[in-house]
Amino acid sequence: MLKIGSHVSLSSPHYLVGSVNEALSYNANSFMVYSGAPQNTRRVSTSLFRLDEAKELMKEANIPQENVILHAPYIINLANTVKESTYELAVNFLVQEIQRAQEMDIKVMVLHPGSHVGAGVQLGTQQIIKGLNEVMSQVDMKDTIIALETMAGKGTEIGRSFEELKAIYDGVIQKENIGYCLDTCHIHDAGYDVSDFDAVLDQFDLLLGLSNLKVVHVNDSKNLLGAGKDRHANIGYGEIGFDNLIKIIYHPRLAHLPKILETPYIDKKAPYKLEINSIIKREFEDKLIERIQADE
Ligand code: FE
Ligand code: FE
Ligand code: ZN
Repeated sequence: MLKIGSHVSLSSPHYLVGSVNEALSYNANSFMVYSGAPQNTRRVSTSLFRLDEAKELMKEANIPQENVILHAPYIINLANTVKESTYELAVNFLVQEIQRAQEMDIKVMVLHPGSHVGAGVQLGTQQIIKGLNEVMSQVDMKDTIIALETMAGKGTEIGRSFEELKAIYDGVIQKENIGYCLDTCHIHDAGYDVSDFDAVLDQFDLLLGLSNLKVVHVNDSKNLLGAGKDRHANIGYGEIGFDNLIKIIYHPRLAHLPKILETPYIDKKAPYKLEINSIIKREFEDKLIERIQADE
């Protein structure tokens, strides 16, 4: 069965119960959460997250635990060699984030590898490796996977090619705890032509191993192939297009993986219910914006 969902919020007072209910309101059977606001590192104890109730709800709704993904906040930057405190914050935060993932019974935590902020890809990559090894030496990883996300290459982002991700992997000691997250908008913006997706997957498999791919972020892109921009578009409303995204979503080699939408809100309203519906029907929703504005 297709595993489809979106990122959902996790916040006071309902916490994970609210997340599950939000996912269900989109008819999703999968979802991704941040452990708090994605743009800051303020976090509350997972004992407040109403985990048992959320689990009960998921059971009733037939959402298996493995369909839930955690995303580390995007402001932490392991690649920073310029400001020592940024790197240290990232290491400390990630140790706690992995503990939170384990407390929440989530196996896959998505991580943006980091930005070298001018120091160059090589130095940045070394710092990411050092950071990941430090994190993994400070916390018992168990079967938790840090899924490095394919990045668009905006600014000084590292991870804009499979080669760059491979270089990180090569330096990590505990390789069994490293996986990947493939973001369709990001790889398109980084220059991978997803209209020939089999070729992209072959390349991914050759360099990173398809079995290490743990989750797919499904987003259309507002920019042209190779733009290096990272601006997500609604499904079928961007340069990748509906048919290409459907081929990826239903690709037999990715059938076992959760597909997570991170497409933009329209008039402050989530588009996910309509997008998921159009994905399930495999029919382009050409009135997405009008229908959301009309609040259907
Ligand atoms: Fe991400
Ligand atoms: Fe993403
Ligand atoms: Zn993005």
